[in-house]
Amino acid sequence: MNCEECHDYIDAYIDNELDVSATVLVEQHLRDCIRCQQLLDARKTVVTLINDSQVRFEVPHSLLGKVQSVIPAARSRLKQRSSSRLAVPWFSVPLALAATITIMLGLVYTNQRGMFDRSSAKVLAQEVISSHVRSLLGTHLLDVPSTDQHTVKPWFNGKLKFSPPVHDFVNEGFRLIGGRLDYFNGREVAAVVYQRRQHVINLFIWPADPSHNTAATAFTKDGYNVSHWARDGFEFWAVSDLNGAELSTFADLEIQQS
Ligand SMILES: [Zn+2]
Repeated sequence: MNCEECHDYIDAYIDNELDVSATVLVEQHLRDCIRCQQLLDARKTVVTLINDSQVRFEVPHSLLGKVQSVIPAARSRLKQRSSSRLAVPWFSVPLALAATITIMLGLVYTNQRGMFDRSSAKVLAQEVISSHVRSLLGTHLLDVPSTDQHTVKPWFNGKLKFSPPVHDFVNEGFRLIGGRLDYFNGREVAAVVYQRRQHVINLFIWPADPSHNTAATAFTKDGYNVSHWARDGFEFWAVSDLNGAELSTFADLEIQQS
């Protein structure tokens, strides 16, 4: 891959939209090319800024109040004047404005709901596998290398807006080796990392609807085993090249903790 191709792929790479082979090619180029690495950092900064609630435009309450006060008045005028089509223009402006702002508010709300509401499990599967592969390719598997859950769990405090559950299962053959921050859909998620023999398991965790508990669902994709479930207000996605049976055992251990 050359710089030009890397530039073409960089946004899709940040959004985790590339398949595993393209991800590997981009990663290889980025490792050798400082200029493209700088471009990546710049793009990531923009993504972070866009997703920062402090720079996001919020509709002020005063405007909301005005819109809400206009809607009933406009409705009653609509009723009074419905017999005459010619009367429409003088009240259609605030009505259209109200409708537009209502749609905008809906979009803002939709955007801020659960981060993966719009994503299908298929897209997510691709993202977790790409992140898993990325974590193994470079030197960025662990931000906090530690086998102590009482070191790893507090490390996430202040770095994420949620506190992910962190457990060690060394006695069952799944050793906690640390954690790191990872990135899906422009949002940060927790990656808790385990090791079984020579296999690494990435357990990705992010907040979910607390009423939405699901049993573990397992599947294989691109040679990786994936198991995901929702419990106690968190979504869990475990991915590894470990065999499916042992990954399911790991999932059961984690589920029993909650
Ligand atoms: Zn380059």
